[in-house]
Amino acid sequence: MDNQLESVRETLLMGPGPSSVFTEVYQALARPTIGHLDPKFIEIMDGIKTFLQQILRTRNRLTIPISGTGSAGMETSFVNLVETGDDVLILINGVFGKRMQDVASRLGARVDALEFEWGKPVDPDQVKKQLAKKRYKLVAIVHAETSTGVRNPVGEVADLLKDNDALFLVDTVTSLGGIPVEADLWQADAIYSGTQKCLSCPPGLAPLTFSEKAVQKTLQRKTKVPNWYLDLTMIVNYWEGSKRAYHHTAPINMLYGLYQSLFNILTEGLENVFARHRECHLALVASLESSGLEMLVEPEFRLPMLNSVKIPAGVDEAKVRQKLLDDYRIEIGSGLGPLAGKIWRIGVMGHTARLENIKRFTDALNQILS
Ligand SMILES: *Cc1c(COP(=O)(O)O)cnc(C)c1O
Repeated sequence: MDNQLESVRETLLMGPGPSSVFTEVYQALARPTIGHLDPKFIEIMDGIKTFLQQILRTRNRLTIPISGTGSAGMETSFVNLVETGDDVLILINGVFGKRMQDVASRLGARVDALEFEWGKPVDPDQVKKQLAKKRYKLVAIVHAETSTGVRNPVGEVADLLKDNDALFLVDTVTSLGGIPVEADLWQADAIYSGTQKCLSCPPGLAPLTFSEKAVQKTLQRKTKVPNWYLDLTMIVNYWEGSKRAYHHTAPINMLYGLYQSLFNILTEGLENVFARHRECHLALVASLESSGLEMLVEPEFRLPMLNSVKIPAGVDEAKVRQKLLDDYRIEIGSGLGPLAGKIWRIGVMGHTARLENIKRFTDALNQILS
């Protein structure tokens, strides 16, 4: 019998995620599985909570990884914080804002969507006007819109909400570990992320933090959280306190992986990690532009970890990606929605963000295009 796994080859992951995984994370994943209530494992969980507080820049007590990918973090935030009939405002300029709208709508929230052109940032002036029109229970924004490569001005939107009752929810799936995420400074009430973008772990966990205000909202719900698996009022009893009650079996080895990736990032130092992303981004843009290619997003709002470049006229974009994968073992992403066929999305996330990787990719692309 053939084992299909034997022919899996290492790929330089330069798409919108997953990113290349730290070697130490692969080693961590292979450590012996122990019990999810083993005191040693509880120590590791406590370590993860502390590391997450550091990388999210928060003192929030409720700071834990959710079992599931980034979207599970999104779902956890909405199912715990939203009740039927709540007025919710979602700021949308790409796929992930749209996904938030879908998730909130399924919960029976009254969702207003403030939409902006894909490839352009959310405009705080328009948000301000909308906030003056209605009182919202929750306002949600995506920090790094992976579908376009836009960095949204979360700090400015946060300032608009500082004397507003609305809960503030921020998606940092792609930004965390690549650019500063300032949970406490923003006074964000809920933030979620994912492991396979700038944290350079395989997909499978969603770091999440809730402010005290968000915790209170969850505890004071009129109705039960409508999702058993993601109900934080139960999950916290496993992650906190002296009892550590079983809720669902923690994905032990994935949590080893997350522990190790956070360990790597914090050991390198957050500022150094951000600088490495920026340096690689600038090198990539310089090389693409010197080859005559054009970036989609204005420099001020570009994400270092997700670079959208316009596809030159007459080029079969899918063929180029196929050749990159087949001949060079490099993966990049295509455009989504209105940008399908118009851009490539080049990820420079986490462990992928190394100058030698940028050179390997741009050399390959230049060869293919010529
Ligand atoms: C990738 C991503 C998600 C979804 O994460 P999954 O791990 O694919 O579930 C959500 N938001 C943003 C901004 C993302 O980039």
